[in-house]
Amino acid sequence: MLYKVLDKDNYKDFLSGLIQNYNVTGPKKINNVLHDFVPIKNFEEIDLGYVKTTLPPAKKLLFPSKEGLVSYTTDIINVEPLNESEEKILFGINAWDLNGMNFLDRIFTTDFIDDNYVEKRDKLIVIGMDTTPSEINFAAEMGAECAKSGFDLFMTDIGNKYFIRVATPKGMELLSKFAKISEALTADFNAYDKFKESYLGMFKASADVRNFHENFEVSYGKNELWDRLSKNCFSCGSCNLVCPTCFCFNVKDDMKIDLKTGIKSREWDSCMIPDYGLVAGNHNFRPTKANRLKQRYRCKLKTFIDKFGAYSCVGCGRCAEACLAKINICEDISAIKEEVSL
Ligand code: SF4
Ligand code: SF4
Repeated sequence: MLYKVLDKDNYKDFLSGLIQNYNVTGPKKINNVLHDFVPIKNFEEIDLGYVKTTLPPAKKLLFPSKEGLVSYTTDIINVEPLNESEEKILFGINAWDLNGMNFLDRIFTTDFIDDNYVEKRDKLIVIGMDTTPSEINFAAEMGAECAKSGFDLFMTDIGNKYFIRVATPKGMELLSKFAKISEALTADFNAYDKFKESYLGMFKASADVRNFHENFEVSYGKNELWDRLSKNCFSCGSCNLVCPTCFCFNVKDDMKIDLKTGIKSREWDSCMIPDYGLVAGNHNFRPTKANRLKQRYRCKLKTFIDKFGAYSCVGCGRCAEACLAKINICEDISAIKEEVSL
């Protein structure tokens, strides 16, 4: 890792150079209340003052809500992969969403290499940025408040400069071409350390997950608990769709009217909707809201501790924010702990 600094006076030139030479996706204010990551055409569009976006940026780019996997013809049997990928810069992603992306990287390259994801990921240049967490964000509790890998450059505002961690040759190349940088000096490291100390205090929401996974199974048979936690759920699936680490999808055929050509595509799916567990014979493995909420929390807080040694939740708080029934994962973690004394 190399450490550089960029004077804020030179920040506009750096960004403008990137925008002129690359497809840049970055945070933009899209109405009075919402920010979203969208293609950026000029420097003024970028708004790094965002505290949340409805959808996680890396998931949007690397695992879009709908994408073609293969095209095929049936008169002469032929199948062609549809890997739509181009070099892009993702600018301004924060640490927890970047950690969510790192989780997706593992999912789509472990057990099975997902070419559609990997080709996009290989061409994505990632420039992260420390941003202000929302009031519902508990990333610090999940150990996701700091970006340690998965980026080319990571920038932190330390006053009149950005402290830049340079993780890859590509990141260094971008700085060399487009930024007037200098070496980070002791005073810059001190300012960075000071920022990190104060940053932890900005995470206001809490969810005590210490040792949570060890005895989580004890809660599985507590039917009254799960009925209570899921009572108001509408089974809408929004919590899955907005989650940076949810990766379930459904594959379907779109056959053209000529019945000779078609596309096999995938779309995001949700373990919270009733049809997810439905199989042939009209049997549903998770027929109740309680079954489905339990499965969702098991996936977030247990399954990937066993598989990867990591929670599949980065504490972004989007699921709680998106839920019309006001089901809040932090409150539910406390309720589960209380019930079974984890
Ligand atoms: S967003 Fe809320 S209501 Fe919708 S499925 Fe998730 S928990 Fe249920
Ligand atoms: S489970 Fe909720 S808080 Fe955790 S990463 Fe997903 S959306 Fe964010």
